[in-house]
Amino acid sequence: MKIKYSDRLKNAVKHWEQSKKKPAFIREMAQLPKREQSESYCKNCAGMGVHYVTFTNGGAFQSPPSGNAPTLYWDGKDKSQWREGWYSVDNSEAYECPTCQKYERATIDMDTGEVLR
Ligand SMILES: [Zn+2]
Repeated sequence: MKIKYSDRLKNAVKHWEQSKKKPAFIREMAQLPKREQSESYCKNCAGMGVHYVTFTNGGAFQSPPSGNAPTLYWDGKDKSQWREGWYSVDNSEAYECPTCQKYERATIDMDTGEVLR
């Protein structure tokens, strides 16, 4: 399925990549557990209501940069212009899902994948 992102998200990614020359990665949504993939949840964001973008400020490195700064490993698959490797993270932000309004919101435990209500 082709995922739709908000203009605000797309503009933020474009602006970051053009001005910083470093990638802003749209994070893949965890899929809802099979039994929860009903019509009541938005498929565009797996019921999260938002899409997350991680803005990076260094990389790609062959090993995680030292220090306490958060890092992200990118497999290089989806965005061919950014190399596979470790990136240092500047920050992450959530952007409203553009197709979500008419759906119920699911809250998902990111560790277990359980849907909380
Ligand atoms: Zn949605």
